[in-house]
Amino acid sequence: MTAAKGPAITVLGGGLMGLAMAHQLARRGEAVRVLSRRRSEAAGFVAAGMLAPHAEGLSGDLLALGQASLQLIPSWVAQIEADSGLSCGLRPCGIVVPFATPAERDAYPTAAFGQRLDRRGLEQEIPGIGERWQEGLLFEQDGQIDNRRRLMRALERACVELGVTFQEGSQVLELVCEPTGALSGVRLRSAEGEEHHLPAERAVLACGAWSAQLLPQLPIAPVKGQMLSLQGPRQALRRVIFGPGTYLVPRQDGLLVVGATSEPEACFSEGLTPAGQRQLQEGLASLLPEASAWPPMERWWGFRPHTPDEAPLLGTSPIPGLWLAAGHHRNGVLLAAITAELVAGAILGDLEPAEQDQLNNFSWRRFERN
Ligand SMILES: Cc1cc2nc3c(=O)[nH]c(=O)nc-3n(C[C@H](O)[C@H](O)[C@H](O)COP(=O)(O)OP(=O)(O)OC[C@H]3O[C@@H](n4cnc5c(N)ncnc54)[C@H](O)[C@@H]3O)c2cc1C
Repeated sequence: MTAAKGPAITVLGGGLMGLAMAHQLARRGEAVRVLSRRRSEAAGFVAAGMLAPHAEGLSGDLLALGQASLQLIPSWVAQIEADSGLSCGLRPCGIVVPFATPAERDAYPTAAFGQRLDRRGLEQEIPGIGERWQEGLLFEQDGQIDNRRRLMRALERACVELGVTFQEGSQVLELVCEPTGALSGVRLRSAEGEEHHLPAERAVLACGAWSAQLLPQLPIAPVKGQMLSLQGPRQALRRVIFGPGTYLVPRQDGLLVVGATSEPEACFSEGLTPAGQRQLQEGLASLLPEASAWPPMERWWGFRPHTPDEAPLLGTSPIPGLWLAAGHHRNGVLLAAITAELVAGAILGDLEPAEQDQLNNFSWRRFERN
C-alpha cells in the first residue's frame, strides 16, 4: 500500500459501484472511506452476473460502453483477484438467445454480432432446449461472472487489503453544501443510531436504486427483480440462455440461476410474490423443461437502478465535488469495470479526450429540464 495522496474520498453506498469505485481509487493511491447502509440489500448481491451487451440487445452509446467494459473485464478481474487473493468466478461461456421464428432472430438489434443457429445448432449448444425455440443467436463474446458468491466478496476483500475503510450500517441522510453550492459533507446516521455531520469535499454517489433519495434531480427509480436458483448436474448446461422474460445462468458447479422479473410498479416493496415466482418457473419450463425437476436452492429479490433511457449516470453531478456512478439498471455488473475506470479518471482529472467523450455521453445533463 502507498501513502494516500490527500483527504479521503467518500464513497456513498457500498454496493457494486461503491466497491468498484473504492477499489479503483485506492489502487490509484487515494484514501477512501465507504459509507454503506446495508450491504445485503445491494443489487450487486442479487444480479445474475451476465456480461451481455450483445445478448441484451443494447444499442447506440450504451452498446459501445458495454462492449468497452466487456473488453476491460479480464484485466479488471485480474486486478481484483491479485489484490484480494480470491476468485471472482469469471466465465466467458457465451450466451444463446433463442427465438421462435427466423424473422424474430433477424430483427434482433444485435443480430449482426451473433452466430445464427437453426434448430439443430440450438440443440447442439443447449441440449434439451424446449421445442418452442427453433432459431437462435450465439454470442460467443458474452459471458458471466459469479457476482453473488464471488465478485462482491473479492471486491470487498481487495478494498480492505488496499486500506479502504468501511462504515457499515451508516445511512447518508443528506448531502450538505457550502453557500457556493459545492459539497462540504454529509449528514449521517451511524449504525448506533446517532446522527452527525461528516466533512467530505470529494464524494461519489453510488447508492443504486436509492440514489435519487439523496439527489432528487436524478431520474433513478427502482425496478424490482425476483430470482431463484436450482442445483443442476455439473456441466449440464454450458451456455447462458437468454430468453424473453427469463434467462438461465449456469455456474461452474452446476448451480442454475434463473431470472428475472421486472416490476417497476413494485417500487421498494420487499419480498417474493407468487406471480413473480410462477413467471420464473414457467420461463424455466419453456426454455429447459428437464430443469424444472432439479432441486430448488434459493429465492431472492432486489432493485435495479432504472433511468428513463436505461443507461447510467456517470461523472460530474449538479453539486461540485460530488461525482456519479449510478443508474446502471440491468447492466451494472457488465458496466462496473468501465464505470470504475472512467469515474476514477474524472475525479483524479486524468482522462484521455476519448475517455472524456465517452463519459460525456452518460452525463446527468441529458435529463436536465430547460
Ligand atoms: C434481479 C436483478 C438481476 C440483475 N442481473 C444483472 C445481470 O445479469 N448483469 C448485469 O450486468 N447487471 C444485472 N443487474 C443489475 C446490477 O445488479 C445493478 O445495475 C448494480 O448492482 C447496481 O450497482 P449499484 O452499486 O449502483 O447498486 P447496489 O448494488 O444496489 O448498491 C447500492 C448500495 O447503496 C446503499 N445505499 C443506498 N442508500 C444509501 C444511503 N442513503 N446511505 C448509505 N448507503 C446507501 C445500499 O445499502 C446498497 O448496498 C441485475 C439487477 C437485478 C436486481
